[in-house]
Amino acid sequence: MLKQISEKLPEITNSWNPVTGCLHMCVYCWARKYVERLSKIGVEPYASRGFKPTLVVERLRKKFSKKSFIFVSIMGDLFGEWVPETWIEKVFNCIRAQPTVYFFLLTKNPSRYLELGRLPENTVASATIESNRCYPDISKAPVQSIRIEAMKNLKHRYKALVLEPILDFDIDEFIEVVREISPVFVYIGYDNYRFNLPEPPLEKTLRFIEKISEFTEVRLGSIRKAWYE
Ligand code: SF4
Repeated sequence: MLKQISEKLPEITNSWNPVTGCLHMCVYCWARKYVERLSKIGVEPYASRGFKPTLVVERLRKKFSKKSFIFVSIMGDLFGEWVPETWIEKVFNCIRAQPTVYFFLLTKNPSRYLELGRLPENTVASATIESNRCYPDISKAPVQSIRIEAMKNLKHRYKALVLEPILDFDIDEFIEVVREISPVFVYIGYDNYRFNLPEPPLEKTLRFIEKISEFTEVRLGSIRKAWYE
């Protein structure tokens, strides 16, 4: 099945949240704030569960149209260490049952990919890595160096990186990180929510984008001057 689809993957078409909630506590988390709003107007599972990890069983029946590209669990982290393996297997069974659909997996705990063994073939396994430097004060997720090692060690046909919100980095080292991980695409963007994070200056980010564009596809989010520029 996968041979029928070109290496250039489509844009993400939709999201699907069979598992919600997250305990990484990133200071820049937009999802937690969004969940607060949804829960106030009675939207489930947020009204009863808030941002606590939750398996939404009825969503496991969802079917998607052919060749769509679905972002899995944008409202949480499906691979957080707190997520029972049985939940992940249920989600993987749905994914495997729809082999003409692509699914985008994103986590801040990519070591879990390695523990799980083989991922469904019709997935793009990605990780958020905001910088080659470690920033332990902005999240309780495994630090960037641990995520980088896991993504380097992951053997999967389609890997991707999300460098958003991008944080200040060492340009040569970060280019090498991306090269070694060898993603099919890299998504890059600055913080969208004015958290005054330790951002790189725009000129440095543009040089980085130019360099990695030589060997991978770059998808752009909001690219702008750092808040202090
Ligand atoms: S990993 Fe994502 S969902 Fe979880 S706290 Fe961080 S930003 Fe929010």
